Amino acid sequence: MLGLMQNWPLTVDKILDHAKNWHGDREIVSRSVEGPIVRSTYAQVHARAKQLSNALLSLGIKPGDRCATLAWNTGRHIEAWYGIMGIGAVCHTLNPRLFAEQLCYIINHAEDQVIFTDLTFLPVLQENRAKMPTVKHVVVLTDEAHMQPDVFPGALCYETLIGQQSADCIWGGFDEQTPAALCYTSGTTGNPKGVLYSHRSNFIHTLVTMGTDVMGISATDTVLPVVPMFHANAWGLAFSCSAAGAKLVMPGQKLDGASVYELLETEGVTFSAAVPTVWQMLLGHLRDNRLKLSTLKRVVIGGSAVPEALVRAFRDDYGVSVTHAWGMTETSPLGTLATPTGKTIKLDAEEQLRYTLKQGRPPVGIELKLVDDNGARLPHDGVTFGKLMVRGPFVVGQYFQGDGGVILDDEGYFDTGDVATIDPDGFMQITDRSKDVIKSGGEWISSIEIENIAVGHEKAALCAVIGAAHPKWDERPVLLVKLEAGQSASKEEFLSFLEGKIAKWWTPDDVVFVEDIPLGATGKIDKKLIRERMKDYVLPTAKATVSA
Ligand code: ADP
Repeated sequence: MLGLMQNWPLTVDKILDHAKNWHGDREIVSRSVEGPIVRSTYAQVHARAKQLSNALLSLGIKPGDRCATLAWNTGRHIEAWYGIMGIGAVCHTLNPRLFAEQLCYIINHAEDQVIFTDLTFLPVLQENRAKMPTVKHVVVLTDEAHMQPDVFPGALCYETLIGQQSADCIWGGFDEQTPAALCYTSGTTGNPKGVLYSHRSNFIHTLVTMGTDVMGISATDTVLPVVPMFHANAWGLAFSCSAAGAKLVMPGQKLDGASVYELLETEGVTFSAAVPTVWQMLLGHLRDNRLKLSTLKRVVIGGSAVPEALVRAFRDDYGVSVTHAWGMTETSPLGTLATPTGKTIKLDAEEQLRYTLKQGRPPVGIELKLVDDNGARLPHDGVTFGKLMVRGPFVVGQYFQGDGGVILDDEGYFDTGDVATIDPDGFMQITDRSKDVIKSGGEWISSIEIENIAVGHEKAALCAVIGAAHPKWDERPVLLVKLEAGQSASKEEFLSFLEGKIAKWWTPDDVVFVEDIPLGATGKIDKKLIRERMKDYVLPTAKATVSA
């Protein structure tokens, strides 16, 4: 016997239909790539997305075809998302921060037929044009006046293309398991792998993330997604804001402190989301110019662990509450959020901070377990750490084109590649990525924990900790510090700053001051590149052991 409720396939076009029908005049404001601030509404975006669908149909795009976007967060990018997905084609978000070689690999692997691009990326597309044989059309997200035919001859103009089309187009009508979007992992090990989201998985992710204890977006919010739409779907905000009827403020290409601040203030932003490095730039700008935040209430920070100093600065200096989140491309991306429980809300501010700094607890729809190397379950005691495994309706089941083979265990859990603890209150804490954890004398040292404490030093701009080979201990931690401009510091200053804050045996064997700490394509510290740069480095303690 089956239930007797209506069969209403969970397809994402219905989300924008809802926004048009019930929040049609709610604004979507964009800092355009051409420069000016552009204002639009959900009703306008809906109509233009339908025009775009008709344009795609006229170009011969069929259900299942991959159409890529290489674009910043703007209203046009949202139109492209919904316009592509509405007709059952697959929206493939390309990360422009990848090297050209990786971009080409991904475009070919996905067999993209159309690329919607911002003007910014025309040169890289032109240079690599011959290496993308499946791409039939490049559409520039601009108007006729800003086209650059000399940079990319033959590209189509977005405004002209959609201007010729009607806003009548039937969306949906297909199975909810139809693929909607494709996003590749940034490939920190091996080639990038594609995560193929379905309409159903995106719809369920949207409903879950709207929960009060999750992102909790409301119709009264004004939301600035700094996190790019090409980085794990802007954490679902293009969907959840439309579903809630929140005003959207899209920052375009300018993500520096001054530009983000200007939008926060002029548009009255109440909620924002970004990786820690973006917030560090914003706080630097606020401090240097003695500015205040007048409307911002809450920020979600994820992508990498949130340094304590960042949470304190937001809380104590600006009255903004921080929600720490964990997730990955493979989890759509939200997996856990450190929102309070009935128990933790009663704790004093300092004790609550201990929980905020953890990566948090899973919302309904996400199941977590910790296992050892043999797959045996480990206790949730907040101390024992093991591999973090995840399962649920918006978690990857297999990679696109079968890459990587079988990726789930016997119980259907996916190995996140993260090492974590889970405490008795259900708060998960990432110890490290499995490949970054430092193995010293058979025990594990969390590089993340040390770097997040070290970056709290007033002279530090960025810190990274890696393991360096040691003849006796296997590996020992080295702290790399990029100092704030104009500062100088000694190794001892940093080591004594860490004293008492970490276990003694976790103390780095060396502190190296560097000009630059490289960030990868998703704004995280690029440990792979750091390790490459440090390949000839020898620990002073290793030299001592060898000569002893
Ligand atoms: P990629 O893996 O391609 O760099 P993702 O955005 O999918 O891109 O990264 C997911 C990974 O980022 C997680 O597996 C985890 O290691 C890390 N991560 C995400 N959020 C956090 C967080 N709040 N704290 C620590 N690490 C995090």
